[in-house]
Amino acid sequence: MSKLNITPMEEWSGAKDRPLIIAGPCSAETEEQVMAIAEQLSKQSIDYYRAGIWKPRTRPGSFEGIGEEGLRWLKNIKETYGLKVGTEVATPQHVELALKYGIDALWIGARTTVNPFSVQDIADALQGADVPVLIKNPINPDNGLWVGAIERIAAAGITKIAAIHRGYSTHEKTRFRNKPMWQLAIELKRAFPEIPIINDPSHIAGTRDLIQEVSQSAMDIGLNGLMIETHCNPDEAWSDAKQQVTPDRLQEILASLKIRNVSSDNIEFNTSLEDLREQIDAKDKEIIDVLASRMNIAKQIGEYKRENNVTTLQMNRWEYLLQDRVNKASSLDLNDDFIREVFQTIHKESIKLQNEIMNNDKVNA
Ligand code: PEP
Ligand code: MN
Repeated sequence: MSKLNITPMEEWSGAKDRPLIIAGPCSAETEEQVMAIAEQLSKQSIDYYRAGIWKPRTRPGSFEGIGEEGLRWLKNIKETYGLKVGTEVATPQHVELALKYGIDALWIGARTTVNPFSVQDIADALQGADVPVLIKNPINPDNGLWVGAIERIAAAGITKIAAIHRGYSTHEKTRFRNKPMWQLAIELKRAFPEIPIINDPSHIAGTRDLIQEVSQSAMDIGLNGLMIETHCNPDEAWSDAKQQVTPDRLQEILASLKIRNVSSDNIEFNTSLEDLREQIDAKDKEIIDVLASRMNIAKQIGEYKRENNVTTLQMNRWEYLLQDRVNKASSLDLNDDFIREVFQTIHKESIKLQNEIMNNDKVNA
């Protein structure tokens, strides 16, 4: 993958050796509301004040944002409290207006990142601008779209770029509003180590009780900042009421975070780490060997099914197997969701191999 021209985050945000913090309401509602939150947040160490001016709502009829007037309020916050301000842009007109009002950072929302036409329109409008642009992951778990959006914005000459990890929409019932799927953020980091990733625990959690836990997980995998929706009166918020926290709670969450180092100079620690990693390598080799022999058995079953003209998928057997494995694993303290995902993946591969065997049958016939 080609290296992008990226200005290090510490040069544009001032966040050096610590996470970048963005806080503020989901939506700008009234001038009094945004000013009251800003007054509280100006006493804390946050890097950017956020407020949505144009709100992409899933269903029509909800509050869709205050529009251009809100940009005046953000400008006022900048002048009154010296806070840098940021908002979401989804169209070239939004970009033009935000730049006209001197908004310090723009972000592209999850519902926009999914659409390359929209991202390209935004990129075209950004040509020649020197503003940080933060790109949220798309609502579906597809790093291709995330990478594509980053590349389009970089190609427009924007160098102050960060990604925002806000989790993924899923039909499954989980504790989260948007499943974190941390692996995708880690994959993005591997592809673009130079691009900082800011975690958005608010949209992942969907409920304020989980914000601290998600923020800590983000710090534990070495993400570079947090965007936390903050409101003086969260329950009365016009959007995302359940997930917003008060400025006081924000302060508590930030103070509670344990920020870990990427590595250590402690020789004893490094030696034991090496030792444990060797054990992990050996275990992974065992897992691969077991998977290979399991797939061989699945292929043999496929042959039998073909000879006896039986379908590859037998729903009863699959339901029994999944439940049985979850039960067995749970007595060993393994998480149900984790085991379910592992066996779903294994089963998918077995079915794929057996279907290939069935197809050979058709070809040979
Ligand atoms: C938001 O930040 O308020 C927002 C709409 O987020 P997302 O695009 O992640 O849903
Ligand atoms: Mn929101």
